[in-house]
Amino acid sequence: MHEMWCGTDTSGEPMWHVLTADKDLTLCGVEKREEPGGREKADRHCLPCMKAFQAAMASMKS
Ligand SMILES: [Zn+2]
Repeated sequence: MHEMWCGTDTSGEPMWHVLTADKDLTLCGVEKREEPGGREKADRHCLPCMKAFQAAMASMKS
């Protein structure tokens, strides 16, 4: 249900975010925009998104 989205962090570095269920927002609150030029794959994951994602998974299991 959660999708990854390759966007940028606040400094413009490519980074994987996790999208909310409606795919309009990232879990960390970074605005989802079309990536500027090309589809460069990020090799880093957004930490706030990962933590929010893990918390969501944990709450679903319990
Ligand atoms: Zn994020």
